[in-house]
Amino acid sequence: MSLLDSKNLSPRLLSFFTALIAGLTNALMSIFISNNWKIPIVVFVLTFTIIYLLYHYTLQRFIYRKIKLIYKFIYQTKATKREEYFYENVLPQKSIDEVSADVQKWATQKKDEIELLKANEKFRKEFLMNLAHELRTPIFSAQGYVDTLLGGALKDDSVNIKFLTNASRSIDRLARLVDDLDGISKLESGKTPLIQESFVIQDLIKEVYEELHLKAASRVIHLSFKKGTERPLHVTADKLKIKQVLVNLVENAIKYGNDNGSVITGCYELDDKYVYVEVSDDGPGIGEEHLPRIFERFYRADRSRSRSIGGTGLGLAIVKHIIEAHGHTVNVRSKPGVGSSFGFTLDKAAT
Ligand code: ADP
Repeated sequence: MSLLDSKNLSPRLLSFFTALIAGLTNALMSIFISNNWKIPIVVFVLTFTIIYLLYHYTLQRFIYRKIKLIYKFIYQTKATKREEYFYENVLPQKSIDEVSADVQKWATQKKDEIELLKANEKFRKEFLMNLAHELRTPIFSAQGYVDTLLGGALKDDSVNIKFLTNASRSIDRLARLVDDLDGISKLESGKTPLIQESFVIQDLIKEVYEELHLKAASRVIHLSFKKGTERPLHVTADKLKIKQVLVNLVENAIKYGNDNGSVITGCYELDDKYVYVEVSDDGPGIGEEHLPRIFERFYRADRSRSRSIGGTGLGLAIVKHIIEAHGHTVNVRSKPGVGSSFGFTLDKAAT
């Protein structure tokens, strides 16, 4: 870029060049008026100094003071010592183009912040709406049964136990929802730091299978390991949290799976750093249109099925939170009519 590109001149350089041109012009004219060689030099020095100081002062006072105000506004801070130094020494060196670039950078930054705030606001509104909806269903249901019982059904032996059981089921669902919400908010606030330890991932899966075997048996679903992936793999992670991930995934595979179906978990060594764990079922699968949103809170592929099963819609959101807190990712592959596979990576333990 040329030095004399007027758009990129700082006030100091601009004053310098103006004073230089004025000084040289005056000195040149004084050569014709006087024969004394000292006169043009004196004229040059005087003109240069006066024009430089005057021009520089005017620029500072009328333009850079305004620009300083803009900077103060865009940084929105009270001037610290460092900023005072910036205003005194750095800002006057800046060209109008640089100032314009700074303001544009600020504008882009603000635009991004506004977009983020808008997205958060939309997310907050949706979350509250969903939460109210999720709470309303079990509360109204329990309230309905209790009111009916108090209204006289309590004495009717043909329905009283059934209504009480239904009310109790709704309250259980509320308790599960509050538990899951509590879990998610703790994960988000970072109040439950990860307790990393080394363990064999297959042993943890066995533990989960044992805990869920009654649930699986009630649907005649077979829980097993993928053939060829039984060799013990040591991972480093928060064991309790990874257990929750596995419980959520295996429970979903049982809940949404077909009767007489199977759930198979595979554990693979990706390289010398990572292990990949995948829980697969041969259930109804999930439509492609739902896959990008399946890990969102309260998102359900099959609303009526999930609710009738008693799901809170938070299981996969919790899975995602836990895996991401470990610095890893979770993914889903699914095909309607074929089944679903949920997989995540973990750190391999140093041996
Ligand atoms: P929910 O409490 O409803 O099960 P999740 O967050 O665990 O909530 O799951 C979200 C939705 O993803 C479920 O409502 C269901 O529609 C779908 N889903 C999850 N796992 C499976 C699976 N293994 N097979 C089919 N659909 C599933």
